[in-house]
Amino acid sequence: MRIRWHAIALTAALAVLFASAPALAQEKIRVLASFSILGDFVKNVGGDRVEVTTLVGPNSDAHVYSPAPADAKKVAAAKVVIVNGLGFEGWMARLVRASGSKASPVVATKGIKPRKQAAHGHSHSHGHDDTDPHAWQSVANAKIYVANIRAALIAADPAGKAAYEANAAAYLEKLDALDKEVREAVAAIPQERRRIITSHDAFGYFQAAYGVEFIAPQGVSTESEASARDVGRIITQIKRQKIPAVFLENITDPRLIQRIAAESGAKIGGQLYSDALTDEKGAAPTYIDMIRYNIKQLTSALGTS
Ligand SMILES: [Zn+2]
Repeated sequence: MRIRWHAIALTAALAVLFASAPALAQEKIRVLASFSILGDFVKNVGGDRVEVTTLVGPNSDAHVYSPAPADAKKVAAAKVVIVNGLGFEGWMARLVRASGSKASPVVATKGIKPRKQAAHGHSHSHGHDDTDPHAWQSVANAKIYVANIRAALIAADPAGKAAYEANAAAYLEKLDALDKEVREAVAAIPQERRRIITSHDAFGYFQAAYGVEFIAPQGVSTESEASARDVGRIITQIKRQKIPAVFLENITDPRLIQRIAAESGAKIGGQLYSDALTDEKGAAPTYIDMIRYNIKQLTSALGTS
């Protein structure tokens, strides 16, 4: 009996081995992206020539991520490592060193003009870099990410050049359509209502590109907590300027915004996706879904009085 079971197990193992043989013939390029939004860009450009792994997963906060030992193995196994840069992944340099990887990470925001955090009342110096890393919130910037990723994949896998160029061209066309969609949605919101509160300052590039003002008690990173003074200032501002809605984010603790809503009388307009996608079952499993979801939330909270 025992021998027969071993034979069955062996046959099954061989079957798995042979089934995966054709995939081995055309080995995929292993690409590691630091967080979910970047991972989605890489999937769109890389198509079936790449195998994408993402370090910081859906609904997770990359600002304060602490890498696990398994992450060093993922870095070591990757042929291409892609990061956002602009100070977003402060933990990455040490992780790459720990992995022993010789590959230097590709910075997807290369060529994007960095935005500095708006100086709204942040008179105190908290020693943090105030460069805003959330460049992906402008669709025009997303197109620069795509161009950088395309160049990195071609450099790592020259045989795939035509495929990467075709994939990128198709995706860039979708991004152009998305940018137009955002502009049309914002244009339909009365100008005096284009102002909202979120937990952390993640929408500065969106604001600069599309003209909706975002005000946040927390800075461009979630590392430092909002001070009582910042929170008090925002509550006063909501009342004075009659700001219509406050929004939760998928990556931050909702309690701060809930408290601001309760004390200011502003309604909670819903949830925005700032720094991470959702999983497949969520509302924003891709970048395009994320931007669409966010503009739908803004339109429904601000569109009518
Ligand atoms: Zn952020």
